[in-house]
Amino acid sequence: MVAARRASYLRLIMQVKSDRTAWLKGGTAQCKVAPKKLAHPHRLVLLGAPGVGKGTQAELLSEGLGACHLSTGDIFRAAKTLDACDRTPNMTSALGYMRRGDLVPDEIVLGLVAERSGCLRCRGGFLLDGFPRTVAQAEALEEALGKQKVALEAVLSYDLPLEQIVARLSGRRTCSVCKSVFHVTTRPPKMSGICDHCGAALYQREDDRPESIRVRMAAYEKSTSPLSEFYRSKGLLVSVSAEGTPEEIFERSLKALDGRAG
Ligand code: AMP
Repeated sequence: MVAARRASYLRLIMQVKSDRTAWLKGGTAQCKVAPKKLAHPHRLVLLGAPGVGKGTQAELLSEGLGACHLSTGDIFRAAKTLDACDRTPNMTSALGYMRRGDLVPDEIVLGLVAERSGCLRCRGGFLLDGFPRTVAQAEALEEALGKQKVALEAVLSYDLPLEQIVARLSGRRTCSVCKSVFHVTTRPPKMSGICDHCGAALYQREDDRPESIRVRMAAYEKSTSPLSEFYRSKGLLVSVSAEGTPEEIFERSLKALDGRAG
């Protein structure tokens, strides 16, 4: 029963987006649906603090540009649903760190990405999300791309003033049962405090309280500002304002990329 539920979850996350079997499973796994053959595949890294809407932009860009959305967080979430014998040693170690709420050490993340290096030369291109997170990871990515004889086109960095990030995250409410996400002003439930989908109570995640958000943002700034500098010095960093609706931000992202191509 549990195995059937796990298999259907894995099938679901593989279907909702483009087929990412090779990325999610690693090793010798192959995507069942061949990527579109693109004359100029986009190879991008997405950066952005929690709350800027980077995940939504990754989905829109993946659809709009045909590039595969490659998130390291998704590899770990998919690994959780596999039987222990189907996990590589790198995945098993990574899950231990995640369970403790820690960042996964660079060498393990890099091992997992190395097991998926074919995805980096995929002719459909890629949108890396959640990787790299440190300068050491960015340097290793550069080396891995060099070996695959491909290069990054740009690093899209989504920026939003701290006050707006606090407003977005502190208004978020999550269903205690089905985990659907609402927002008190931008996506309110029909009945205050009650989930539209299953009728259970909504709650505010501990880490979505304003005081926790400020601490998370400070930690994010500390770890990613060297990464932004790394890419700025290579002329790859493209800042995109994350103000407005997802569609407005998406249009802005495309314009920023067009601007570079021209
Ligand atoms: P995310 O979905 O990107 O927020 O990732 C979820 C969790 O996976 C993070 O909190 C980390 O524990 C782990 N993780 C994902 N990507 C990385 C990475 N590049 N380096 C270290 N840990 C990562």
